[in-house]
Amino acid sequence: MKIIIDAGHGPETAGKRSPDGVLREFHFNSAVANLVKHYLIEEGLSIFFAHDERKDVPLSERTAYANNLNADAFISIHANAHGSDWNQANGIETYAYSAARQESLVLAALVQQSLITACKRADRGVKKADFAVLRDTRMAAVLIECGFMTNREEAALLRDKAYQQQCAKAISFAITAWVYQGKK
Ligand SMILES: [Zn+2]
Repeated sequence: MKIIIDAGHGPETAGKRSPDGVLREFHFNSAVANLVKHYLIEEGLSIFFAHDERKDVPLSERTAYANNLNADAFISIHANAHGSDWNQANGIETYAYSAARQESLVLAALVQQSLITACKRADRGVKKADFAVLRDTRMAAVLIECGFMTNREEAALLRDKAYQQQCAKAISFAITAWVYQGKK
């Protein structure tokens, strides 16, 4: 079973940071990706990264990499933003492709439920979108928004190692359940 973990964006990607500039989205995404890899290897799964610590890998390269590997699932990890200033938008949401197959919807529901149970943030639900990494991958694919960089409370959580670990454990638990308890 091959699982692709995709930390969204890159270390220098413009705009992808908290309003005060203290939190860069990639730093959260890649920290959680590293932890998820650690937990899933313990579960006997083969883990591959679609991102690169040094640069923002183009989306077409990320999806081509996953398709060439003939992976079973593509998990894109992100932190959310609403506008560019501090505001009250908050909570966790998980996306599947607008025309997602059933196995993606099942995986998205498992991930969302697991994150809400573990992190106790507002449940914004499973949503559908036409994101390239969801549309152009030929496998189960989800994109996870683990909290808002534009919310002061959540921006602090997103920088917190304990919260990163909570997110990673919850995501790993959901993937493991999806793999071993049947994906349909
Ligand atoms: Zn993002």
